[in-house]
Amino acid sequence: MTLAAAIDHVPTLFSREFTCDGRFEAGGQVITCPSAHGTMTIGKALTVSCNCVFGALATEVGPDVMAQYADKAGLTSSLSVSGIQTAKGSFTFPTGDPGNLAWAGIGQHNDLVNPCNFMAYMGAIARGGVPATPQLVYQTTTAGGIPTSMYLKKHGARMLDEATAAKLSDMMRDNVVNNYGEKRFPGMELCAKSGTAEVGGGKRPNAWFAGFSRDPSHPYAFVVMVENGGGGNAVAGEVAGQVLRAAFQE
Ligand SMILES: [Zn+2]
Repeated sequence: MTLAAAIDHVPTLFSREFTCDGRFEAGGQVITCPSAHGTMTIGKALTVSCNCVFGALATEVGPDVMAQYADKAGLTSSLSVSGIQTAKGSFTFPTGDPGNLAWAGIGQHNDLVNPCNFMAYMGAIARGGVPATPQLVYQTTTAGGIPTSMYLKKHGARMLDEATAAKLSDMMRDNVVNNYGEKRFPGMELCAKSGTAEVGGGKRPNAWFAGFSRDPSHPYAFVVMVENGGGGNAVAGEVAGQVLRAAFQE
C-alpha cells in the first residue's frame, strides 16, 4: 500500500538510488532495519523489506495520502463475504509526527488489517486494479456431478490505477524470483510479498505472506497469516507453498 502511494506520488521513485544505513531518524524516533541494506533500487528495497526506505517514503507522501491509499485499498472498510461482514482494519497516520507515520508506513504502529480484505487487495493488483469479491464455496456439484447453485463472479470498486497495479505485480514477481525462490512455487508465475509484523510483549511476530498467481489457468489470490509464527517468508511463505502446490495439482 505504501509502495502504491509512492508509485503514484513520488515521480523520481524508479530513477532514485536509495541508501540504508540500518537506521533512519524521523521525528526523534529511530527506524531500524536488522542490518544495513546499502544502496538499492526501489525494487530491491521491496524485496528485502527495507524499513528505512519505506518509512521515509511514508513521510514523503504524507499522512493524508497514506490514509487515502488505505481507504482505497479497502483495508478500512468491511467486506460482505457470502453474507459475513469482515471486521474493518484500522490505521493511524499522524500529522506532525513523522516517527509514527514512518512506522505506520512500514506496517507497524497501530496498523490492523483483516486478512480477507488484504487478500481482496492482492486480487485487485492481479486484476489490473479491480478486486474480485471473495465468496464462500460450500458445494458446486452434487455427488453425481450436477451443479447445485449458480456461482456469479462479483467485483468491487477499483482500488488501484491499472498502471500502478502492473508495476506492483512485476515487483512482487521479482520478490519471488530474487528472494523467496521459484522452487517453493514451481511453475506458478507467483507474485508475493512477505511481512513480519512485530507485536511486542515478548511474543513472536505475526508471519504474513500474500500474493497471487499470474498463471491464467490458476488465477488464485491468497493470504497466509500465522499469528506469533515468526518470519513472514520462512513461516507463512512455507505454508503458502504447501497449500498452493496442492491447489495447482487440482
Ligand atoms: Zn534497510
